[in-house]
Amino acid sequence: MRKLFSLLFCFFLLNLHAQEPEKLNASEIFQEIKKLNFLGSVLYIGAHPDDENTRLISYFSNEKNARTAYLSLTRGDGGQNLIGPELREQLGLIRTQELLAARRIDGGEQFFTRANDFGYSKTPEETLEIWDKEKVLSDVVWVIRNFKPDVIINRFDHRTPGSTHGHHTSSALLSLEAFDAAANPEKFPDQLDYTETYQPKRAYFNTSSWFYEGEEAFEEASKDRFISFDTGVYFPLLGLSNPEISSLSRSQHQSQGFGSTSSRGRQIEYLEPIKGDTIRSQDVFEDIDISWNKLKGGAEIGEILNEVEENYSFTDPAASLPKLLDAYKLIQELPNEHWRKLKTKEIKKIIFASAGLFLEAVASQPSATPEDSVVVNLEAINRSDFPVTLSSVELSPNNSKIQPDVKLKNNEDWQNEIALKVPGRTSYTTPYWLKEESKNGMYIVKDRELIGLPETPTHTKAVFNLDFNHVSLSFEKPIVYKYNDAVFGETYQPFEIIPQVSLAFEDDVIIFENQESKKVSIKLTSGKPNIQGEVSLSAGKNWNIKPENHKFQLQQKGSSVTVTFEVSPPKDQDETFIIPTATINGKEFSEKLISIDYKHIPKQNLVVPSKLKVARLEIEKKGELIGYIEGAGDVVPESLEQIGYRVNKLNVASISQASLRKYDAVVLGIRALNTVEALKYKQQVLLDYVKNGGNLIVQYNTNRGLVTKNISPFPLELSRDRVTDETAEVRFLAEDHPILSSPNKITEKDFDNWVQERGLYFPDSWSEEFTPILSMNDENETPKDGSLIVAKYGEGYFIYTGLSFFRQFPVGVPGAYRLFANMISIGK
Ligand SMILES: [Zn+2]
Repeated sequence: MRKLFSLLFCFFLLNLHAQEPEKLNASEIFQEIKKLNFLGSVLYIGAHPDDENTRLISYFSNEKNARTAYLSLTRGDGGQNLIGPELREQLGLIRTQELLAARRIDGGEQFFTRANDFGYSKTPEETLEIWDKEKVLSDVVWVIRNFKPDVIINRFDHRTPGSTHGHHTSSALLSLEAFDAAANPEKFPDQLDYTETYQPKRAYFNTSSWFYEGEEAFEEASKDRFISFDTGVYFPLLGLSNPEISSLSRSQHQSQGFGSTSSRGRQIEYLEPIKGDTIRSQDVFEDIDISWNKLKGGAEIGEILNEVEENYSFTDPAASLPKLLDAYKLIQELPNEHWRKLKTKEIKKIIFASAGLFLEAVASQPSATPEDSVVVNLEAINRSDFPVTLSSVELSPNNSKIQPDVKLKNNEDWQNEIALKVPGRTSYTTPYWLKEESKNGMYIVKDRELIGLPETPTHTKAVFNLDFNHVSLSFEKPIVYKYNDAVFGETYQPFEIIPQVSLAFEDDVIIFENQESKKVSIKLTSGKPNIQGEVSLSAGKNWNIKPENHKFQLQQKGSSVTVTFEVSPPKDQDETFIIPTATINGKEFSEKLISIDYKHIPKQNLVVPSKLKVARLEIEKKGELIGYIEGAGDVVPESLEQIGYRVNKLNVASISQASLRKYDAVVLGIRALNTVEALKYKQQVLLDYVKNGGNLIVQYNTNRGLVTKNISPFPLELSRDRVTDETAEVRFLAEDHPILSSPNKITEKDFDNWVQERGLYFPDSWSEEFTPILSMNDENETPKDGSLIVAKYGEGYFIYTGLSFFRQFPVGVPGAYRLFANMISIGK
């Protein structure tokens, strides 16, 4: 069983999906040699992608040469996306890759737990209740037992629950608990079939002015118990300072809009000791042996490698090869498996780069389906005079092999072709943590070996077996696809295994506001040439779908066809999922292929079950035409169209009394009063529209950064009140108010199956003209009555609501639609 673990651990060191091959220059090789000669490690722990202090990660990796990693408990799936439409799981996938891109720059490694970023949480108690605390703790322990850090550094303070996101405080609390649990054989004993217990030496909290009331307060605070050091160091070998590397790394968080401009010069970081022994100096590695001497059989290796470091030639790195190979042989004899595996990977990378080797396996197509055959072009070249022989190349997963047994002479390119037959049982290329639907704040990962890994290990790869003057070394390369882009030049992307057909509905949700049937279209895209078959839809009972099936035929790979079914809903309110099945030669397919392609990260494939949520609503509505002012972005307009409204998106700069008169309601998108500058001048036009008989519905805004103070006809104070428990009890404060009774009678049932939260940024005080409609609160909090407040103003109505309609509509929550219809219908 131990062997499994070591296999797993190799994955940590591979840049598996990095698109372009890594090509180290002489300075970088030297830096790698220094890292090979340093046997200490640091694990930085936070909750989200972007929590990590890239300055510190880069400092430990590039200045101290320590093995450095960031453990982010979540993949950041709950955040917002500033570069595209992807949200939730797909955003988590982008942010995972952004962290990997950041680590490629700052030299760190990356780990995650199975915890899901479910959205904002006020306290660690709430966070740890939504996550499965034991599972997340187990994952932190697992990463510590495998990575074996000497030093752990927490981004957050474990002593200040409630002062920041609950995920943040939880990351610090779990880190400290894991510090002890990792060493305790009674904790998570099932892990010990794969790894062993481990005791880190010390843990710190990486404090900064962020945790004080500003820079000044931090400057004045006593720092007696902190250790501190200057991370503003300059690396002449790289031509960059540590803060410059850190900014480049941080700027990879593009979906967050974290572009960061470099700074230079002194930058002090502070670490507060919180666990383990105390030290006298400012060096976190004090009293920790970080040399080869710490290992049985290591002293001799250390001597050789010190010599390599001292005699390193920046103009001829290959001159180190004989000594490096001596060290390599000794490393193979190390009795300590952890260090043997780790240092083997590191020294192989150095040997590879020192010989100027280039090894590549390029598929003739970007993707293939199971049972397909593709041609793989192999290339090998040695750019040194060192005698290297290419003995054989094996392809995985089907083990086809060639044995050229050819001497790779200096700068003579070797190329060959080999067929890869993809076995029928090969799984599709998709993130391992998204294979099963996540539950209760946790991703489900059945394969223990994958837990902690940033991404799915590539299963399509080529193993090049080489002989370096009678020392055998093999190098694994993922099979890639590349093409020439007329603008960007040589472009790499991962080679992917995809289904024969991808089935994609046009919408995620279709709402039936009455018993009339609707047309449902599904697009079929082929994953290989010449497929034909039939496709059918299935749904819950009482739903009627015609015809029974459609035949389809697709000649070219990547071509698509759209077929349409007629779906009739039941008489009464009901929800179900429609599942498509395509049958090709007796094989069934019901997946959807999603591709995510941005320049700063490798192209990502996601294969998920295809499904369409349909809901039959018992909904009455008044009014027809709605004007919508888009804010930070939501799908409310499309959702209102689904229930039969006509929606015009308004250009705020050109609205006037006359142009608004025709609308039955004007709705402001989420955070419109934070993001739409033109509302500074036009909010009064909207309020006058209300006075003259209009109906204005304002969705949530944050109280910081409002474009105008004139948000309401009557006094109203926005607050940070929110109800994050989506199942929180909803009490009716004004049962007979038309908003709860007309045209739809709203009941408790309308608040069933809400997702993520009830709402956010509720007003916490308002003038008496307003009627608060609903009351709700999170556990152990006072009632919050500002989620939906209504005031009559002139002839019309002004409605302010922090309820999260924008989260409920995309998943088809019936009650959210019914309540919104009442808001639009008021006064009619
Ligand atoms: Zn965070």
